[in-house]
Order: sequence, then C-alpha cells, then structure tokens
Amino acid sequence: INTLLIGSGGREHALAWKIAQSDRLGRFFATPGNPGIADHAECVTLDVSGHMAIVEFCRSEAIDLVVVGPEAPLVAGLADDLRDAGIACFGASREAARLEGSKAFTKEICDLKDVPTAGWARFNNAPKAKAYVRQAGAPIVVKADGLAAGKGVTVAETVEQACAAIDDCFEGVFGDAGAEVVIEDFLTGEEASFFCLCDGKIALPLAGAQDHKRVGDGDTGPNTGGMGAYSPAPVLTDEHIATVMSRIVQPTLDGMAERGSPFTGVLYAGLMIGDKGPQLIEYNVRFGDPECQVLMMRLKSDLLPVLLAAAQGRLDECKPLQWSGDPALTVVMAAKGYPGTPQKGSEIAGLDTISDESVTVFHAGTAEKDGKIVANGGRVLNVTAMAHSLSAAREKAYAAIDRIQWADGFYRTDIAWRALERGV
Ligand code: ATP
Repeated sequence: INTLLIGSGGREHALAWKIAQSDRLGRFFATPGNPGIADHAECVTLDVSGHMAIVEFCRSEAIDLVVVGPEAPLVAGLADDLRDAGIACFGASREAARLEGSKAFTKEICDLKDVPTAGWARFNNAPKAKAYVRQAGAPIVVKADGLAAGKGVTVAETVEQACAAIDDCFEGVFGDAGAEVVIEDFLTGEEASFFCLCDGKIALPLAGAQDHKRVGDGDTGPNTGGMGAYSPAPVLTDEHIATVMSRIVQPTLDGMAERGSPFTGVLYAGLMIGDKGPQLIEYNVRFGDPECQVLMMRLKSDLLPVLLAAAQGRLDECKPLQWSGDPALTVVMAAKGYPGTPQKGSEIAGLDTISDESVTVFHAGTAEKDGKIVANGGRVLNVTAMAHSLSAAREKAYAAIDRIQWADGFYRTDIAWRALERGV
C-alpha cells in the first residue's frame, strides 16, 4: 500500500512509526513531515492547501492511500478532492468535519439520534442568549459555535461571567466562530476521550485515553494543545465503552449517513463520565495529539490495512483490533514560552542515549539544523513509554527525559496523577 501521510506533529510521527511497521506498506511519503517522521517516510514539500498538487503527486507516485493527520486540511475539503479524483483517503469530508467545526451542528445530530449530551440552546444575538442564561442560572457553559482553538468555551460559575462570555462572542472576540453561541447545561464528572475508526457506516473501536490540557503541574495555568496523555483511561469501564459505541458513536454515524454526509476517519469523542454514564461533550474528526501517541504504542494489530479498509468503506471485513494490556503514557516537552510565544532554535541533545526499547520519543516541533535537532515549535517532543503499570510507564518516561539535554525545554512532572490517585 503506497501511502502519503499529511501532517508534521507528534501525532503524525506516531502514525508514521506505526504505519512503517506494516508488512503491507509499499512506498511511504509524508508532507511536510518532521525529522522524526523522516526516519520512516520520505518527507516531501507539497502545497497542502493546493489540493490539485496533492492529487498530482498521488497520481505520479501511484499512491494507494492518503492519511490526513490534522483537521485543517479536512475542514478545507482535501478528502473530498482526493476522493473525487479516485484516490482513497482516510479522513473526513468537509461536510462531515462539521462535527468538529460547529458545536450546534453536533448538538443537532445528538438531538436527532437521542445521543446523551448536555441540554443546550443556540442564539444569534446577545439579548436572547442573556435572557436564557438568567433564567437557567449558573453554573452554565457558553461556547462560540465555531473553532476558536479551545478559547471559545467558558465554563461560567456565575450568570455575570456567562453574560460577559456572550458579549465576547457577539463582539467578535472569536471572529466568525462567535457569530452563533451555544449554551449548555453544566455537566459534572471526569473527562475522558474515546477513539474510533469509521468507514461512513460503521466504527471499529480503538481505545480510551485521558489528557492534560493545562500547562502547569496540578492542572494549573493556561490551556494548551495537551501536555501529556495516557491510555487506557481507568475511568472508562467496559460497560461505559459499550454505551459509547451503541448510544453515541453508532447513532452519530447513522445520523451523518442519513443526512448524506457519511463520516469517514477518526471519530474522537470527548466525554464526561458522571452519574448518568458517559455523555458527549464534543467531537473531533482526527486523532488527539498527544493521545494518538499512546494509542499507537498500545496497538498490536497492523494499522495500515485497517485505515485503507476504512477509507474504502470495508471496515465490516476487519477483525477487532488487538491491544497491549499494558498502559502507555506520554509526556510532552515544550519550549519555554509555550503556550504563548515559544523560543525556537535551541539545540536538543541526548536523544540517541535513550536505549530503553519500551520508550519512543516522538518528534513534534523539531527541525534539523547542521545535523543537530533543534526546537522549532511550542510542543517539541513526546516522550512515550509503555510498561506493566502506569506508574512504571511514568517512571520510564521521566527517566528518558532525564537523558535529554535541552536547556530551553520544560514539561509537567505529574502526568497521569488522576489515574494514579485511583490506585491504577
Ligand atoms: P478543545 O480545546 O478540547 O478542542 P473546544 O473548544 O472544542 O475544546 P469543548 O471541548 O466543547 O470545546 O469544551 C472545552 C472544555 O470545556 C471541555 O474539555 C470541558 O472541560 C469543558 N466543558 C465543555 N462543555 C461542558 C459542559 N457542558 N459541562 C461541563 N464542562 C464542559
């Protein structure tokens, strides 16, 4: 299977690492890739926003499958243009990507299919939204409908905070994303995510994970893209997973197919696990980053043929995926300044001194300069380990970090604290 992987983050390095282990892999390209991905695939420079350039490349290199890592190319319709050209693509269509791009759209599908989720209302003007909030009371959640890089959501503890968030949205703080506002009931419980591969009709379950969004130890400080993750998520029981598949994922796929926009790709369900069992908070239409890194480390089955089967609507032919029973954990090393402006260009040494076979350092924002690895982004490395217990995996990851010499980097020292407190 000649394969082209789109993306350049730690998520895509983990996908490349896993795909490269497949017996079925033919030639393997990535664009733009990164120095870690370059160990597995030939990194090529292509204009990802110019979809015809990708189509031409696929034709000239006889690519059988395009795997899209991030959401932006999906939202821009890359999967549609590839499929129109007869090229198999693992990734959501533009229309199906609305499950990530519009919160009101997701809520409509939930209502249609009776998916367990927070009660909600939508508004296109501030006075009506505020009147609703005053009547409903706090705590309450105010969300800009569109994508606002995680900043468009306010969990308001008071009616005043909620009204201020409503003003922000309609005053354009989040641009077009805030032209409509979704207001949700406040859910309590513990958050976890669950991932599935989808072929437009059915889903093959992957596994659950939990991440750490805040930059600082103890879940303090500003939000980030994610500072660490682990899988499985102890809070998600087998019974919860069965409920997620039957009441959340499959009804959503049915609803999407019925409205003529079947969902193909990774469905990432952000969940709240509380007294009522799992409730949907949000969908994303791609792997989480860094959750993908821990999923790939635990996955024993060959991923590549399953991605192709999903892209071709043939997941019914695939057996359930096999997973290591051992947990995996990843610690993100970020450049000082992140999530603000990260310092770029500093050298990272010691990566070749990590000899533990159950540890893999995935590259995210790195670059190669004069034969050396340097920092080139906010989140830079994902030190990922697997072991017989989560605490042992954590020790291995932090032991590996101790071998990495990078003066301008930092990381959280408490990844998986929630799971470890449960005594896992
Ligand atoms: P992300 O950065 O994860 O993509 P997003 O902007 O897509 O975020 P959501 O995932 O919908 O927004 O919400 C962000 C966070 O706000 C959630 O992870 C959760 O902690 C909190 N949250 C969202 N909705 C609710 C709710 N109804 N009740 C309680 N907390 C909520």
